Amino acid sequence: MERLQKLIAEAGYCSRRKAEELIKQGKVLLNGEKVTQLGTKASFGNEILVEGNLLEHQEKKYYLFYKPRGVVCTTKDDKGRKTVLDFFDDEETRIYPVGRLDYDTTGLLLLTNDGDFANQMMHPSYKIDKFYVAKVKGIVTGEEVKRLKKGIIIDDKKIYPTRVKVKKIDKKNLTSIVEITIHDGINHEVKKIMKSINHEVIKLKRETFGFLNLSNLKAGEKRRLTPKEVKQLYNMANNG
Ligand code: URA
Repeated sequence: MERLQKLIAEAGYCSRRKAEELIKQGKVLLNGEKVTQLGTKASFGNEILVEGNLLEHQEKKYYLFYKPRGVVCTTKDDKGRKTVLDFFDDEETRIYPVGRLDYDTTGLLLLTNDGDFANQMMHPSYKIDKFYVAKVKGIVTGEEVKRLKKGIIIDDKKIYPTRVKVKKIDKKNLTSIVEITIHDGINHEVKKIMKSINHEVIKLKRETFGFLNLSNLKAGEKRRLTPKEVKQLYNMANNG
């Protein structure tokens, strides 16, 4: 037996917090009876109706996906562009991406149907490092790297990249390859960071998410996370 809000979140209906609200609002029926007490316990053997929808138990799924360029990180796109879900079978359509990578960004993306897991991974207070490699216009100087390390304001928030390193400069074509590790979850963060020192990102790849990397995958390929990896990610988020 588990608390109702946990079962609702586990079924992928919504987050645990949202489930608590629905219970308080009297929108959850357990075996035909309205439940408004948050401590109520049940199991998937019971009939649970949430806003009139019958709750079905689903296996929790966690994927590590190598997102190619030219793919959107939403479950549907009104412009008809390819989405990350096009790389998964129909039966997997209830999964969704954990955070976003831009349309033109490649690299490591997690997808899941576990609302609690997704919320924890994306929560700004859980500082999970993500390592990116960016190709930018212009020659990035040591002075500019120093400025980034001192912290910069992005979207009204002071952020400190964990690590910034100029890996290569191409004096002929006037481009630089920069390695950058960040732990915030701001939209277009790397592009905004590089823009703050006047360099436009022309290519961006996310190489890691915490301890996970793309190892043997090619663009468009995926693998399931192991239960151990899922547990480790939860631990990292909770200790962050
Ligand atoms: N930062 C960006 O600017 N874009 C991404 O896709 C990810 C991080």
